[in-house]
Amino acid sequence: MGPGNPRPTDAPPAEVVPLARYLESDPEVRRVPGPVDLHLGVTREILEDPRRPTWFTGFPGCTLVGNLWSSRARVARALGVAPEGIPDRLLEGIEHPEPPEVGEGPAPFHPLPGPVDLTKLPVPHFYPRDAGPYLTAAVFSARWKGKQNLSFHRLWVKGPTGGPVRLVPRHLDRMVRESRAEGVELPVAIVLGAPLEFTLAAAVSTDYAVDELEIASSLYRRRTGRPLPAVRLAHDLLVPRDSEIVLEGRVTLRDEAEGPFLDVLGTYDPVRSQPVVEIDRVSTVDHPVLPVTLAGTGEHYVLMGLPREPVILRSVRSLVPGVRAVRLTEGGAAWLHSVVSIEKRREGDGKNAALAAFAGHGSLKRVVVVDSDIDIFNDEEVEWALATRFQADRGLFLVPGATGSSLDPSAGKDNVTTKWALDATLPLGVDRRPFERERFPKAP
Ligand code: MN
Repeated sequence: MGPGNPRPTDAPPAEVVPLARYLESDPEVRRVPGPVDLHLGVTREILEDPRRPTWFTGFPGCTLVGNLWSSRARVARALGVAPEGIPDRLLEGIEHPEPPEVGEGPAPFHPLPGPVDLTKLPVPHFYPRDAGPYLTAAVFSARWKGKQNLSFHRLWVKGPTGGPVRLVPRHLDRMVRESRAEGVELPVAIVLGAPLEFTLAAAVSTDYAVDELEIASSLYRRRTGRPLPAVRLAHDLLVPRDSEIVLEGRVTLRDEAEGPFLDVLGTYDPVRSQPVVEIDRVSTVDHPVLPVTLAGTGEHYVLMGLPREPVILRSVRSLVPGVRAVRLTEGGAAWLHSVVSIEKRREGDGKNAALAAFAGHGSLKRVVVVDSDIDIFNDEEVEWALATRFQADRGLFLVPGATGSSLDPSAGKDNVTTKWALDATLPLGVDRRPFERERFPKAP
């Protein structure tokens, strides 16, 4: 499907429904109707079946959904593409951003009366050593000097009006540093619960100049046939019209200790000094659904890893046009380890594919490159390819002294790590018969 084609011609525009109606109609959703302890209880329930969404309907006023986008298959189904087609779909959005449709009328969400009190929302305390209750599925919309940015950040609900936010050194962090240099608090809108395309676009890391909301709108149109409906809030901040909960506030000039917090690797991120966010207004739809992402499980892998794959794909494709598929593996927390399959055309393609994958994702630590007959979404099959086609004396190379991920506890000072690549592609021109796996035909 070319980028000029919004969607397959035989597919009708998808209906967009409020989150609660989507959850009601989805047979995969597991309902937990009873009372649940916000201290560790939500985590315990989600871990009962981390491959399915869990909808906690027992909280008064505001229900809670965990693991909404728990798997590649769920995301693919919602986008209307095949699972292996997700990176290409995301790439279409990244390369062809489109403005959202900013509506004039009032938004479906409305401000809650009375003083701001975030502790009235069912915000879970997820893991025993976490610092406190956290909002984890929070997308920050910010604008500084005319440039808008979307990004995911965890926010510790330390008190009724907010708490410290974890800002990794990317775009929002840059905006905060620049505004603080001028002594100005940065206005932000925090979206909890919005269309999938908005969620995925917010997780894309691209150039500073790109507005992720335009990526979201482009992706949204490819599914629905129209741009993403948005509303304009104070300070010119744009958020999706179909948002469940919107918090409006400021990144203050103050820092406080943030963490510990259990992150994607299932290990605790240490305490750091981080900016404090103050919330001035809470708006919700009637009977809102608060989404939560449980760290270190399916949805966290999907929302961190999937939006990285198109960037890796683009990088590999620039060197190896025969690239078939890329994947960040769950075993590597969808961040550190990847597998790439290629249609090999030149003898060096395997090594070049690995080098380009590293270039596409700075946190990447290990790449396995396989031929296109290997299903890279099947970990056993990838290991089988290593077992039967790989020889370390010619297929392995190391890149010592490179910068890796701050999440990897085995990395050295300044996240210095040794990257490694395993080229399990067969040499061109070799007799492939001894290497081919019998694919026993399915019964008709
Ligand atoms: Mn950005």
